[in-house]
Amino acid sequence: MDWNTFLGHHRQRQWFQNAISSERLASTFLMVGPEAVGKRTFARLIAKTLLCTRSEPRNFQPCGNCESCAQVEASTHPDLIQIHREHDRTALSIDQFIGPEEARMRQGLCYEIRMKPYSGRRKIAIIDDADTIGVEGANSLLKTLEEPPPGSVIFLISTSLQRQLPTIRSRCQVVRFQELSKEDLVTLALRQGLTKDAGQANDIAAASGGSLASFAILSDTLLNEFQVEMERQLVQRPFDFVRFAKAIQSHVDSVGSESQAKRERLKQLIEFTQQHFRLQLLERVSSKTLSPESSISAIRRCLLAKEHVDRMVSPAALIEAWSADLAAFVHESRPI
Ligand SMILES: [Zn+2]
Repeated sequence: MDWNTFLGHHRQRQWFQNAISSERLASTFLMVGPEAVGKRTFARLIAKTLLCTRSEPRNFQPCGNCESCAQVEASTHPDLIQIHREHDRTALSIDQFIGPEEARMRQGLCYEIRMKPYSGRRKIAIIDDADTIGVEGANSLLKTLEEPPPGSVIFLISTSLQRQLPTIRSRCQVVRFQELSKEDLVTLALRQGLTKDAGQANDIAAASGGSLASFAILSDTLLNEFQVEMERQLVQRPFDFVRFAKAIQSHVDSVGSESQAKRERLKQLIEFTQQHFRLQLLERVSSKTLSPESSISAIRRCLLAKEHVDRMVSPAALIEAWSADLAAFVHESRPI
């Protein structure tokens, strides 16, 4: 991880470089932009730049070899506090900010950032998944954002300004990130081994809307094959929702034993189904299979199902109820 291999976001890079070299770096930043375009890596690179012990921050080129650089890389640097939403939680927990109940205000990000920096430089915090800070978490963070310890830098990583509470928004400097260019996406995908074929990478990148996350979905052959099967089942009448639910469950199980990965995959499949009904709605004249009302009900049901995934509803129960409801909408549908 260094600036030479970091792709895109040149304007943001230049902006931080100027702020650091003129020693006018603010303390709290809200990094806003689409998923998987490099916001967190960017924040970690700034941390590396500021904490490197061999290269001055104003050079904007961490050495990559000192102990500090290695510790940032390994996420073990004592002055770099990183929190993210735990896999089994729907949101960042208040404990992560001010410690568990038995150690309130004696642990957690807001406490740690006030400690003297081990390196003698500064404390840096990266709050990933900041879209999921609840009201409680936000309240516990406000004082730290309002009066950050001297020299400290706090990054909040978010996908949308609208998802931030006004109290947080107003206390941060907003840095906007855009989608990656097609060229950067191709380079990144090849580097990460998402595909080995440059031609194919080009084609997929063109349809990925500048997001590496979308690229990963589109380049997943097994997933794409399964989506073809889903599409086939979705247009079949009568819609066999028991068979559909079984197929979804078994595909979700096939991604491995990690529950977070399964939930992510389930969300992708629900999203795909939602797109299917959206297209039905848009092309209803040609499809003639589904009334607009039914399509809208199905789309709404998909949105609700995705919410349920985020709220940790058991996947098996969720898949069953969601598929059955879809079937009801499909079969209720009046012919057009
Ligand atoms: Zn270094």
